[in-house]
Amino acid sequence: MMTQKNVNRFSVIVGIFGVLFTVLQAVIPETILQIIIALSIIVLLAIVFFILRRIYDKVIESFTNTLRHQILDSKVFCMEGKRFYERDCLVIRRNTLQFILDYLIEQSKDDSSKTLEGLGKTIADYLINDYDLEKKLKKKIEDNSGNATPSPKEVIRQWCSVEENCHWGKFDITFTDLGNNGKFRGTVTIKNNVLAKGRNSENKQLCLYFVSYFKHIISKLAGFPVCVEEKNCGTKFGDGECTFSFTPTESTI
Ligand SMILES: [Zn+2]
Repeated sequence: MMTQKNVNRFSVIVGIFGVLFTVLQAVIPETILQIIIALSIIVLLAIVFFILRRIYDKVIESFTNTLRHQILDSKVFCMEGKRFYERDCLVIRRNTLQFILDYLIEQSKDDSSKTLEGLGKTIADYLINDYDLEKKLKKKIEDNSGNATPSPKEVIRQWCSVEENCHWGKFDITFTDLGNNGKFRGTVTIKNNVLAKGRNSENKQLCLYFVSYFKHIISKLAGFPVCVEEKNCGTKFGDGECTFSFTPTESTI
C-alpha cells in the first residue's frame, strides 16, 4: 500500500519530469527529442531484459543446485557446466555414453585398455592445451571468490566441481600433504559415477578412461606428475561408486 507521503513524492517526481519535458520540448527540435525518447526507451528495455535474464539464470541455477544430486541420472541441463564450457555442451544419456565406449573397446583390435587410456589422454590433452583448462579454472575461482592466485589444491577442487556440474558424478576429493615440498597425494571418490552406475561385474570396466584422464589433468593442475590408481570400482559392486587415488610419481617425491 502506498502511503500519503509516498504518493506526494511520486507526484513531485512526475511533476519534475513533466517540467523537464516541457523545457526540453521548447529548446530541442522535435526530431531530436523523438530520437532521445526512442533511445531512452531502447536503453530501458535493454536494462529490463538484462535484469529478467539474470533472474531467470538465478532461478534455474538454484533449481539445478537444489536437485543436483537427484538429477545426476536425468537429462536436465546443467547451467554451471554449460557456462564453464561456454555453452558448447551436449546432453547425452548415461547409457548412450556407456554404449559408445563399450562399442569402441569392442572394435579396438589392440588391448581394450589402450583404447580407454588413449581416449582419456586425448581428451585431457585437448582440455589442457587447446581449451586452456587451468587458466579458465583460475579465472572461475577469481570470479567467484576474488582470489587471483589460487593454490594448486584449490584449482583441483574447482576442476572437480566443474566435472560434477557436468554430471560425471558427485565428486569428493581429499588431499594429504607430503612433507614441505608442496607435493601432496589424494583420493577422488565419485558417487553415481556415469561410467559405473547401472553396471555390474558382468560388464566391462570403463573407469580406465578416468584413470588416464585424471592422471593427465591432475599432473597439470598440481604442477608435478602423478600416477592414478582405481582403488574401488562401483562396476564390481554395482553401486556406481568409485575411488581413485593419486600420488606423485616416484621420481618427483
Ligand atoms: Zn570404477
